[in-house]
Amino acid sequence: MPVFTPITGDRIASVKAHTGAQAAAAVDGAHRAFLAWRNVPAPRRGELVRLLGEELRAAKADLGALVSLEMGKIRQEALGEVQEMIDICDFAVGLSRQLYGLTIASERPGHAMRETWHPMGVCAVISAFNFPVAVWAWNAALALVCGNSVVWKPSEKTPLTALAVQRLCDRALARFGDAPDDLLQVVIGGAAIGEVLSDHERVAIMSATGSTRMGRAVSERLARRFARPILELGGNAAMIVAPSADLELAVRAIAFSAIGTSGQRCTTLRRLIAHREVYDRLVTRLKAVIDAVAIGDPLDEATYMGPLFEKASFDAMQGALAQAVAEGGTVYGGERVEGDRYPDAFYVRPALVEMPGQTAIVGRETFAPILYAMRYDRFEEAIALQNDVPQGLSSCIFTNDVREAEEFLSAAGSDCGIANVNIGPSGAEIGGAFGGEKETGGGRESGSDAWKGYMRRQTSTINYSRSLPLAQGIRFDL
Ligand code: NAD
Repeated sequence: MPVFTPITGDRIASVKAHTGAQAAAAVDGAHRAFLAWRNVPAPRRGELVRLLGEELRAAKADLGALVSLEMGKIRQEALGEVQEMIDICDFAVGLSRQLYGLTIASERPGHAMRETWHPMGVCAVISAFNFPVAVWAWNAALALVCGNSVVWKPSEKTPLTALAVQRLCDRALARFGDAPDDLLQVVIGGAAIGEVLSDHERVAIMSATGSTRMGRAVSERLARRFARPILELGGNAAMIVAPSADLELAVRAIAFSAIGTSGQRCTTLRRLIAHREVYDRLVTRLKAVIDAVAIGDPLDEATYMGPLFEKASFDAMQGALAQAVAEGGTVYGGERVEGDRYPDAFYVRPALVEMPGQTAIVGRETFAPILYAMRYDRFEEAIALQNDVPQGLSSCIFTNDVREAEEFLSAAGSDCGIANVNIGPSGAEIGGAFGGEKETGGGRESGSDAWKGYMRRQTSTINYSRSLPLAQGIRFDL
C-alpha cells in the first residue's frame, strides 16, 4: 500500500498490507497472550506501561515529526498528540494499583457480597487518520493494565506512525522481559481487515474510532455476536457565546478549536451560536483571524495551519460550502492556497460561514475547517440549537453569568459527553472520560472510570454461615 504525505502529496513509502487470514491469526496469537497476561498482577502489568511511557518520552520529537509528516498536523499539535500518549501511560500506571471493586451489604446473615473486575480478552483497536497514534494509546494503556492483549488496525492512510509505535512497544517489551508473545500487535489494512476483527469471536472488546458510517457498520457486526463496543465517532461541536462573555478569550478559543488540525478533529468547533449583541463584533474579529493565520508546511515552527489530509477532504469542503451558500449562507475564506507551490497537496484558508439558521449542512460533520456562525436571542434557543444535531461529542459556553453556565451543564443543558465553560470544545485532558452520545456512539475512553469498559464485572456472594437462607425470604425446605 502506498503512503503519501499531505504536505506535498508525494508518495513517501510503501507498506505491506496484511491479509484477512493474517489478521485472524494475529487475534488468535493475542488470545494466547491474554491467557497468560491475565494472570500477571496488575501492578506488574503497569510496569510495562511505565516502560512504554519512557520509550515515548525518549522518542517524542521523532514520533511527533512523523505524525506531522504522515498526517499533516502542525508540529505543536503533533508533539501534543505524543504527550497525550505519555500522559495516558502515567494515568494507567497509577490505575494499575487502583482497579478497585466493591464490598456490598448482604441481606442474609453470615453472607458477604463483593464485586470484582477481571480482564476481558483481546481488545481490538480501529483508529482514524486524524489522531494516528494517541487514540491507540488511550485504549492500549488501559487495556494492558486491565489484563487484555491488543490488536491495532490503524487507519490505512497512516500506517507509518503505527509501525513506529510498534517499534517503541517492542523496546518496552524487551526491557520488561517476560511478557507473552503477541501481546501487542499491529495489522495493516483497510475496512476489510476491520471487518475481520469485528467478526472474530476472540475479539472481546472492539474500540473503534472514526466516522459514524464506520461505527454503524462495526456495531452491527459486534451486536450479532454480543461483543463489547467502545465507539468514538463523528462530532459537531458548538460554542455558545453569551452577551456577558469575555470576547478576547472566546476569540482565542475559537481560533484554536476551529482551525487546529485544519478542522480535522472530532472535537473541532463547527458551530458558533452567538448572541445577537456580540455576533457582529465576534464575526469581525474572526475574519481578522482568518486573514492572519499562517498556513503552510506543518513542520515549519511558524505555521499555525497545515494542509487538509487529501484531495477528498478538499472536495468535501468545497461541496459543503456550495451547499451552505445554496441554503442561504455567506462564505468568508475557504479557498485553496499554495496551489502553485504544492500542486498535489491541499492547503485552504479556514472558512467562516454566516448562516440564516441551522440548516441541513450545519447538522452534518464535514471534516474540514468550516465554522458556521448563527445568531440567537434567547438562551433556551441557544441550547436548543446546540442540541439539535445528530452528534453529541463536545460543546462549550462562553459566559460570565453563573446561571447560564450552570444551566448549560444541567440535565436540561448540553446533551454532549463533553460540556465546557469558558474553554473551547477541543483539546481534552486525559484525566476525564472522553466520548459522546447519539451518533458519536456512546463510548468512553481515557480517564475517570473508563477502564471499566476494558474489564468484566463479577458479582460474588459468599456464605460463611452454616445455613442456606434464600434471598427475598423465599422458603424452599425440601
Ligand atoms: P473512517 O471511518 O473513514 O476510518 C476510520 C477507521 O475505520 C479506519 O481505520 C478504517 O480503515 C476503518 N473502517 C472503515 N470502514 C470500516 C468497516 N466497515 N469495518 C471496520 N473498519 C472500518 O474515518 P477517518 O476519515 O479516518 O476519520 C475521521 C472520522 O473519525 C471523523 O468522523 C471524526 O469525527 C472521527 N473521529 C472521532 C473521534 C472520537 O473520539 N469521537 C476521534 C477521532 C476521529
